[in-house]
Amino acid sequence: MQIFTCPFCGPREETEFHFAAEAGKHRPEPAEEISDADWADYLYLNDAPKGAAREVWVHATCGEFFVMTRDTVTREITNVTALPGRDG
Ligand SMILES: [Zn+2]
Repeated sequence: MQIFTCPFCGPREETEFHFAAEAGKHRPEPAEEISDADWADYLYLNDAPKGAAREVWVHATCGEFFVMTRDTVTREITNVTALPGRDG
């Protein structure tokens, strides 16, 4: 069992967390003019890098979203921060 650290609650078991999105992914605008294929890519395709990745996760217990930087190979977590604009 891996331990993740919620920036608001502290260390917790990984089963309390859910992946939400890649960090830094931008919604294509204007959305009304985006093709169905490009919209589907935006919604469902992720880079899934081998190695360092910045991802948005949610802690289900407190409901807060945050950015976690982790290595997808070694599972090492190198940074956890609240989303910008959240002073938590
Ligand atoms: Zn939390």
